[in-house]
Amino acid sequence: PRSRLPTVGTTIFSVMSALAQACDAVNLGQGFPDFDCDQRLVQAVSAAMLGGHNQYPPMAGVPALRAAIAAKIATLYGRTCDPDREITVTAGATQAIFTAILALVQPGDEVIVLEPCYDSYVPNIELAGARVVRVALDPQTLRPDIDRIAAALTPRTRGLVVNTPHNPSGTVWRADDWHGLADALAGSDVVVISDEVYEHMVYDGQPHHSALAHPAIAARSVVVSSFGKTYHVTGWKVGYAVAPAALMAEFRKVHQFNVFTVNTPMQYGLAAYMADPAPYQTLSSFYQAKRDRFRAGLARTRFRLLPCEGTYFQCVDYGGLAVPERTLPEAAFCEWLTREIGVAAIPLSAFYGSPTEQQRIRFCFAKRDETLQAALQRLGAL
Ligand code: PMP
Ligand code: GLN
Repeated sequence: PRSRLPTVGTTIFSVMSALAQACDAVNLGQGFPDFDCDQRLVQAVSAAMLGGHNQYPPMAGVPALRAAIAAKIATLYGRTCDPDREITVTAGATQAIFTAILALVQPGDEVIVLEPCYDSYVPNIELAGARVVRVALDPQTLRPDIDRIAAALTPRTRGLVVNTPHNPSGTVWRADDWHGLADALAGSDVVVISDEVYEHMVYDGQPHHSALAHPAIAARSVVVSSFGKTYHVTGWKVGYAVAPAALMAEFRKVHQFNVFTVNTPMQYGLAAYMADPAPYQTLSSFYQAKRDRFRAGLARTRFRLLPCEGTYFQCVDYGGLAVPERTLPEAAFCEWLTREIGVAAIPLSAFYGSPTEQQRIRFCFAKRDETLQAALQRLGAL
């Protein structure tokens, strides 16, 4: 058949998880926890089901959940959002990003992505009929380079996808980055799609700088987050989008004919669970401890550690290993590592549009300590 996405195969996350399973490897590839969520959250969802909350919710989401999201945003980012007009509950961040792009981008528009970037952005833009403009993050630090972004702007630029904390590099945007971007975008009608699914995983005492905390940026942004990351429930696929009412009205036109609504009892359960801020307030320290233990273990191997300021991903360079496979390209190296060493990882090449010369892979450390320990034991032999 004719293809809308002729160059696209199966997403690397599915490929590597399937291979890890087939090889009985420790799966540090696809990003998801190997431990369960808080049982109080399960109980809250069960209570909603038993209480009869099993039919369609309002199109934009259960009001109590949208109110809880608005309250959190006011507390954390100092922005007042109208839950009736500015917040929509989505089937995970994936749907929120896709819906935002489809709703706000026209064929012939240009949309900037900052490379390396999460793998759904580019196909989303292509399916909207827009042109993808790839702007490199700083090649050394993988931090945003506002001058490069400014240089890529044209009268056709309609969108910019930002991701902070950043998958895969773990870098985070600072207040100055947002200020610089606000200046670069002043006077344009560029919409920022800010993917903040790792907003509660920022380390070493740094804050998360949300697009919502910067008024000039928030006024032109769709900000996306995911309960899957924050509450260890990636399989529930519930997230949300926040945008000024005029943008959100367009977003909802697409949302209503894409998924219409998102599962009801999860929304009631999440709304009740959000009354306690502790789970998201303590998430950074929970994952920072894992990051520190995992990094300490990797520091005893021949892998070279890259920085990790946020997310639950740790990138490493494998060029210094003592095995001949150290010269393999990233995807082939990951396949070898999974099949022969028994540890699955994600090649950073999956986040680029064209081959890179680098030798870098991403490990997910959202795992039980014994899982990380088992992986480290295998990696230490290389
Ligand atoms: N954006 C980024 C940067 C991600 O890493 C992920 C992966 N989980 C998503 C979006 C998708 O989130 P969700 O599972 O809520 O659709
Ligand atoms: N976001 C997760 C990752 O980067 C995976 C999500 C997915 O499998 N699509 O690993």
